[in-house]
Amino acid sequence: MPELPEVETTRRGIAPHLEGQRVSRVVVRDRRLRWPVPEDLDVRLSGQRIVTVERRAKYLLINAEVGTLISHLGMSGNLRLVELGLPPGKHEHVDIELESGLMLRYTDPRRFGAMLWSQDPLNHELLLRLGPEPLTDLFDGERLFQLSRGRSMAVKPFIMDNAVVVGVGNIYATEALFAAGIDPRRPAGGISRARYLKLAIEIKRVLAAAIEQGGTTLRDFIGGDGQPGYFQQTLFAYGRGGQPCKVCGTELRDVKLGQRASVFCPRCQR
Ligand SMILES: [Zn+2]
Repeated sequence: MPELPEVETTRRGIAPHLEGQRVSRVVVRDRRLRWPVPEDLDVRLSGQRIVTVERRAKYLLINAEVGTLISHLGMSGNLRLVELGLPPGKHEHVDIELESGLMLRYTDPRRFGAMLWSQDPLNHELLLRLGPEPLTDLFDGERLFQLSRGRSMAVKPFIMDNAVVVGVGNIYATEALFAAGIDPRRPAGGISRARYLKLAIEIKRVLAAAIEQGGTTLRDFIGGDGQPGYFQQTLFAYGRGGQPCKVCGTELRDVKLGQRASVFCPRCQR
């Protein structure tokens, strides 16, 4: 599933080819994404210039002169630029054709993604209640400490809650908790301010490192398969249940928290 770093990498890859370009036509071959692609998307977007490409949480906001295309990659979606006229493959559901001779092609085998239209995207129901972006000053350990008081839920699902902070998926929650030395099962309300300050720093560090690594895949956004994939990072805990801890050698444990696999070191994380 594309996580925040993959979505940010997609934004950086496609933005230079979209910003300032005029849309000549929108072709929708299959409207059946997570929500139906609006029937009038072609009428709304054609003839408009794309002004900016932004990201909010895992939503891409393709801002035209009037209105915004909100796109989400779902479980298996990707966006890439291809030459106009390139025949579509099986799961290539939407093309946004540009006057530049390129088109933005949306591919999504599992069709859990989204292509929606909004005049006021930040107040769209999908975006309205989202917490702060993790890599901004609006998110810090003090926020985690304050919001967690009185909460008995485990700290891992707490930091994965989009109302607390957006974009902390399972990989990054697992790795940040390992780096901060915090047991993912510990009740959120019982963790000290000092430990939350450390945890917030580690969340920012693991996400920033993944985005930085994503930069090496930018060339793939024209012509290639457009899949930034999962960034090859050094993973200390995620996906390593049953293997020895890279720090202390203890066997890593694998538990379910909030229906998600959660790997941790019983010695390094308390
Ligand atoms: Zn360990």
